Amino acid sequence: MLNEIQLAIASITGAKTIAEGFVAERDTLKLAELATTLNARLIEAQASALNVQRAQALLNEELARLKKENAELADRLKRVERTGQEYADYKLTAIARGHCVVYAARPDETGMCKPPYLCATCLQEGKHSALNFEDGTLNIPGKRFVCPVSAAHTLKLPRGGWTLQNVGQTLKDG
Ligand SMILES: [Zn+2]
Repeated sequence: MLNEIQLAIASITGAKTIAEGFVAERDTLKLAELATTLNARLIEAQASALNVQRAQALLNEELARLKKENAELADRLKRVERTGQEYADYKLTAIARGHCVVYAARPDETGMCKPPYLCATCLQEGKHSALNFEDGTLNIPGKRFVCPVSAAHTLKLPRGGWTLQNVGQTLKDG
């Protein structure tokens, strides 16, 4: 863009020098030649100015795009911060009699950690994924915690009458 501006200035300066030549020159043929050169220089100047305008338009577009991107990132950061505060007291906890390791809130006075529980694998990557407690199916019997992000994060529960009300019971002394 700087180069385009320099070209435009050079063309205009050149045109001015040629125009000054008109005053001194009396020869008709020479005058016609000068006029042609002058026209060519003016066309060059116009082309350069047009290029400057195009470059400016591209820069404006880029600026608008960056502003939008910046606003989106700020929004995302705010959401991440809010989620972090929501689960600030969550700790790595063994529930379901020690069979499942999840991130859970501090246990209450009875040793019960209330849901939601967070996927420990996801949290290592900075993602907060609330685990879903699901019943077994005919093909895959047994209750389990399923991560919404990946089936590979599924935590299977051993046999037992697990409910969302008793599964959060943490191990007491002994
Ligand atoms: Zn997960």
